Amino acid sequence: MALEIQDPQELWAQCLLNIERQVRPQSFTNWFKQTSVSHFDQDLLVIQVPSAFSAAWIEEHYLQMIQSVVWEETALTPDISFVVTQAPQSVGDQVLPVEQEVPANEGDPAEDEQEIESAPAQSLNKRYTFEEFIIGDSNRFAHATALAVANSPGKTEFNPLVIYGGVGLGKTHLLQAIGHHAYNHNLAEKIVYVPSEKFMRDFVQSLQDRKSIGEFQSFYRSADILLVDDIQFLIRGEQTQNEFFHTFNALHQSEKQIVMTSDSPPGHLDGLEERLKSRFIWGLATAIDAPELETRIAILHKKAERTGIRISDDVAALLGNHIRSNVRELEGTLISLMAYCSIHKKELDLEAAQHIIQEQGPSPSEVSIEAIQHQVADHFNLTREQLIGKGRKQDVATARHIAMFLIRTLIGSHFTTIGLHFGNRDHSTVIHAVNTVENRYKNDPSFARLVEDLSDTVRRQSR
Ligand code: ADP
Ligand code: MG
Repeated sequence: MALEIQDPQELWAQCLLNIERQVRPQSFTNWFKQTSVSHFDQDLLVIQVPSAFSAAWIEEHYLQMIQSVVWEETALTPDISFVVTQAPQSVGDQVLPVEQEVPANEGDPAEDEQEIESAPAQSLNKRYTFEEFIIGDSNRFAHATALAVANSPGKTEFNPLVIYGGVGLGKTHLLQAIGHHAYNHNLAEKIVYVPSEKFMRDFVQSLQDRKSIGEFQSFYRSADILLVDDIQFLIRGEQTQNEFFHTFNALHQSEKQIVMTSDSPPGHLDGLEERLKSRFIWGLATAIDAPELETRIAILHKKAERTGIRISDDVAALLGNHIRSNVRELEGTLISLMAYCSIHKKELDLEAAQHIIQEQGPSPSEVSIEAIQHQVADHFNLTREQLIGKGRKQDVATARHIAMFLIRTLIGSHFTTIGLHFGNRDHSTVIHAVNTVENRYKNDPSFARLVEDLSDTVRRQSR
């Protein structure tokens, strides 16, 4: 069903009214009052914000709420990115397109992301360059191979290159750094970055519209460098795997570079066809591990410096010691700390850092999907098997929805991942469950208390 797109500003104004009902007046003034949008359709919503800092803050704290408001108001589920109206600098994790108003020849050409936006509606995040990447033992080899590939795309033995590792360890960053580097040094003409889910979505769409399948194929098969993010999500859909197989072959035969990221070694990707697995290990698979303390501290200094703030060594050490597993969380904590100090007009010192760490409780990565499932099952007097099973009784379904909601909000797992942990359910089922809980949470205070109690218990237990 093609939805008629109204004026973007009007749509956003409608969303803002809804947001205003949901957040405290002060928060609305701080974070939303000055926003506008430059693009709004079913694929992409670009929100304009006054500073890189508010982009990071809004993303960290309100992204999910914005997504659900947009869904409520427009029935659309676009990707959301932020753009800074004055000083275009990116802090958030999203793609920050360069402002349209900036004449292309005035900026550094390397910064003109319009040019490199070769995959449909996906561009590279400006921050994800080799220069911004801190090297440590955990990622030294992955970094070296990525750089080698970026310098001679298609010409090294590393084709394909697969970078694998846990969440938030810099896989996407390295993948996109290859794109930036090859582009900046004119080493490849057509660079395509695509999350595997987008590949799948584009493919399915092109099947529906029979004419565009040729377009789809020639688009991906004419890349000089194809960067595919999170191939673990390719495992759904036989047809997509088949299509990817042919894309892969076409590119590999003509010595084009393929780089992929994955959450586990290619050989361990259950559900992936053997013929794909065997091709994925033709080149090289390299792991990124969790960074060691020294690297975590260096990353904190670098990220702080980028926003123009210096943090002392003891603050960096405190944060680095507290958050061990995941760079994204490390960044998130630093952003919360800067926000806290700027809002409360406090020095960014050890005391403030301690406050933030205490407030955070255990870091979400210490909470596991299984732990949440057990906790929720216990509360409802169910076994974990019942919780993830097929039973449709009302109380089982409610418990299941709450568990999915908590996993989403406490760990931030992808809908697809959550579905896999609940007996291989489809991601749309998970989205529905999370939305259901969210709605009831807003309208039913005793239900809200139940969810909050469970959330507290989970966080306490994992301490
Ligand atoms: P992944 O794709 O592995 O989940 P990302 O590449 O999205 O992780 O990285 C998460 C965040 O951590 C990004 O903001 C990224 O810039 C940052 N990051 C990860 N590793 C490093 C590193 N070695 N140096 C600098 N920043 C890093
Ligand atoms: Mg990633």
